[in-house]
Amino acid sequence: MTEHTLTVAGVAVDTRHWIGGERVASATTFPDVSPVDGATLGGIARGTAAEAHAAVAAAKAAFPGWAATPRARRARILHAIADGVEKRLEDLAIVETCDNGALLRSHRRGVMPRVAHNFRFFADWLLTLGHDDFDTRGHINHVSWDPAGPCVLITPWNAPLMLATWKVAPALAAGDTVVLKPAEWSPLTASLLADIAAEAGLPAGVLNVVQGYGSEIGDALTSHPDVRRISFTGSVPTARRIAASAAANLTPLSLELGGKSPLLVFADADLDLAVDLAVEQYDNAGQVCLAATRILVEETAAEEFTRRFTEKASALRQGDPRDESTDIGPNIHERQLEKIDGFVRRAVAAGARVVLGGHRGDGHYYAPTLLTDVAQDSEIVQEEVFGPVLTLQTFSTEDEAVRLANDTRFGLAATLATGDAERAARVTERLVAGTVWVNCFFVRDLRAPFGGSRHSGVGREGGTWSFDFYCDLKNTVTAPKGFNGHG
Ligand code: NAD
Repeated sequence: MTEHTLTVAGVAVDTRHWIGGERVASATTFPDVSPVDGATLGGIARGTAAEAHAAVAAAKAAFPGWAATPRARRARILHAIADGVEKRLEDLAIVETCDNGALLRSHRRGVMPRVAHNFRFFADWLLTLGHDDFDTRGHINHVSWDPAGPCVLITPWNAPLMLATWKVAPALAAGDTVVLKPAEWSPLTASLLADIAAEAGLPAGVLNVVQGYGSEIGDALTSHPDVRRISFTGSVPTARRIAASAAANLTPLSLELGGKSPLLVFADADLDLAVDLAVEQYDNAGQVCLAATRILVEETAAEEFTRRFTEKASALRQGDPRDESTDIGPNIHERQLEKIDGFVRRAVAAGARVVLGGHRGDGHYYAPTLLTDVAQDSEIVQEEVFGPVLTLQTFSTEDEAVRLANDTRFGLAATLATGDAERAARVTERLVAGTVWVNCFFVRDLRAPFGGSRHSGVGREGGTWSFDFYCDLKNTVTAPKGFNGHG
């Protein structure tokens, strides 16, 4: 334990950056506040351009060695990181819950196992590459996935380690080195990941973690000429700033951004299932990019749907996210709560009717909220709230449902509840969304592409889409023996 260690639920976390295999302090710190009870967990090293430059330099220095490390060894180290995550699963779960307020039971059973899986998946992926040579008039085409270089990975607070490792794992597997900047509202598990990776034998400088406010450290990372890839998950305004900053060096970008996804409920749906799907949208207190926050219900089913939804949602237990019986935890930060409440107040002033909730609870909690009588062009329908606030609108035809569903600037996901498979196929084809779920929600497979259209993002993550992003793809064409002409 040092003056740079904080303890959360008995777990020690180093509050300094992790640069070139060493802990590095900053001149100042910023407070990390737990949304569970508003307690300050400790002061976190507050990085500036100096730490950003040091981290990129460390990543650059480590790159040739890591890129040249045989794939099998890279894969072994990634599996060892996964082992370390599994070994420290309880620590990671409780620290994440105290840091960002998401449910402990989700961290234990869903999120942290998936963090380990991220490493295993891309370790295994790496070993399947390069067996698909093909022939062009006797010439052999050989595709290779060359490591691209140092990558800057910037992540949000709503699923900190899960989203960070979606990027870290494929980047490391690809042979790249990494500077990870976790969100300032939930930086702790990234620090634990640095410990786990070091214990797993990841060489110094291959993974670096820098902390701080995006506005203070972000630009130094994203405008750095030695950075070969930037992968960002977060909000649209920040994405714009990052894209502008990356433009000077034409650094390739992957952007996973916000959403305002629809849940379309047709009258032919299993209504209990539709209600379950709708209530699920309050998960993580609504702080889920994919959340289907706009419920669109066929007019003839709307009254019954609303009745059943209200009954079910009213029974949700809101409270301490460390308690296994809690359904909805707190929202991340006082500023986020003010933002959520502002959206609701303005919606009500514009004529929305509160069916459920519509107000703050104690501390960092916001009551699960449902608003109706909302206009399609209103702020509450068009803008991402990122809190437990859903709107309900009705439609009378399939055409109208599709029109309403597609009528925002986002295109991240869409969920359909219908008992008619042909309708599902017809509607799905017309929806603008990176993921469509039919009669289900949040089923994710790393082999599938994930991402958004329009302002929901640029590029896709998952499987080959993640992996290829972190590589410089090269095609080598070799002439047949004795050939001395043109192909
Ligand atoms: P945010 O954009 O405020 O911050 C995200 C990260 O960017 C943080 O680490 C922050 O420090 C950093 N940052 C801020 N300014 C920066 C700058 N100028 N340069 C570089 N980095 C900077 O987003 P947030 O509030 O943390 O996260 C919520 C948003 O993330 C929501 O819009 C949500 O929909 C989105 N999100 C998207 C996905 C997805 O996969 N599509 C997943 C989760 C969250």
